[in-house]
Amino acid sequence: MPEERTVLLSLKGLRKTFDTQEAVSGIDLDVYAGEFLTLLGPSGCGKTTTLRIIAGLEMPTAGTVHLDGQDITHLAPERRQVNTVFQNYALFPHMNVYKNIAYGLTMRGAPKAEIQEKVEVMLDLVQLTGYEKRMPSQLSGGQRQRVAIARSLVLSPKLLLLDEPLGALDLQLRRNMQQELKRMQQRLGITFIYITHDQEEALTMSDRIALMREGRFVQLDTPKGLYEQPQTAFAASFIGATNLITATAQAVKDDEVLLDIAGFDVPCFDSDWITPGETLLLSLRAERLHLSCEPVNTACWVRGDLVESHYAGGERSSTIRVPDGQLLRARATTEGEREPTLGSAVYCWWNKDVGVLVRDDREGA
Ligand code: ATP
Repeated sequence: MPEERTVLLSLKGLRKTFDTQEAVSGIDLDVYAGEFLTLLGPSGCGKTTTLRIIAGLEMPTAGTVHLDGQDITHLAPERRQVNTVFQNYALFPHMNVYKNIAYGLTMRGAPKAEIQEKVEVMLDLVQLTGYEKRMPSQLSGGQRQRVAIARSLVLSPKLLLLDEPLGALDLQLRRNMQQELKRMQQRLGITFIYITHDQEEALTMSDRIALMREGRFVQLDTPKGLYEQPQTAFAASFIGATNLITATAQAVKDDEVLLDIAGFDVPCFDSDWITPGETLLLSLRAERLHLSCEPVNTACWVRGDLVESHYAGGERSSTIRVPDGQLLRARATTEGEREPTLGSAVYCWWNKDVGVLVRDDREGA
C-alpha cells in the first residue's frame, strides 16, 4: 500500500439498474492514489458495470463518481483522465506499433518531438523497443496486449481501468505479464483498477481486493486479510481451497469460544457476533490442516477416517470423514511423507489462529 493516502477516486452510493436487473446495488469505495485495486467476483456480479461507470461509458442509476475531488458522474468519457484497457486488445490493425502507441497524443495535437520521446519511453517500459514498425498482425497476443497497455499509459491517465487485460493469454504468458504489469504500475505510480476472475492474479498483484457478489462488496481488504480473515463463507470459499466446518458454540470465555465439532471440543478465537448455542462455520484452509497417525499434543484437533488420498507431485490431497459425516480436506507436501493407508484413523490438527469463524452466507443459508 502506498504511504501517501490521498483519495483519487470516490464512489458513493453507486447503483445501476438495467430494466429490472440490478447490476450494481449500492457501492461505496475510496481508491487511493497509486493503489492497485482489484474487483474480483463471479461472473455477472457487476465488475464490468462498475468499471464502465467509472470510465463514463455507463451512467449510474444513482450515486456519484468523484475523481481528484471533482464530480465527474456526468462528464463525457474523453474528458475524464481515465483510460481503459480491455481484454480484446483493440489495436488499430492498419497502424504499426509506433502509430498505435502515438495515436492518443497525435489526436491531442502534441508536438512530434514530444510524441517520439514519450513513445520511446513506453516502448522501453513494455519491452518492445525495436518493434515500432511491426503491424499488430505480426505480434503475439502478449505483445499486442503490451502495445494496448502502452497506448493507454502514454496519455498519463490519473487512473487506468483494466478489464481482464490478460484474460486471453495462456497461463505462462499470463503469469509473466502479471509481474510486468505490476512493475509498470509501481514504476509509474498510476492508480489501477483491475478486473479479474483469477484469484491468484488478484492475490499476487493487488494492494486491495474488493470481492463482489450480486452487485455489492462482500469484503474490501488486503489480499492477506481476505485470505487469512475472510468474514463470510462466500469470501472464504471464493479464494483458495477451504473447509467450511459446521460447529456449535458451546461457551464463550474471554477471547475464546469453545466449539463442538463432530463431538470434539475445539477452541477458537471469538468473534463479537457469536452467541453460545449457535451453529457456526469454521473456515480452515486445506493447507493449514495437518494430519497425524498418532494422537497430537495440541488444542485444536478432531479424529476421523482417511477416505481419499491423491498424490499430485509436490502435494497430496486427503479427505477425512469425521464422526458426524462431515468431510475435511487437507493438502500437504509429499516431502518425506509416510504413505497413508485408506480407512485408517487420522488426527487432523491445526493452530488455533488459523481457524476463522465466518458468517454463513452460502446460497440458501
Ligand atoms: P463477467 O465476469 O462475466 O464479465 P461482471 O461481474 O463483469 O461479469 P457485469 O457485466 O457488470 O458483470 O454484469 C452484471 C449484471 O448486469 C449481469 O447480470 C448482466 O447480465 C447485467 N448487464 C450488464 N450489462 C447489461 C446491459 N447493457 N443490459 C442489460 N443487462 C446488463
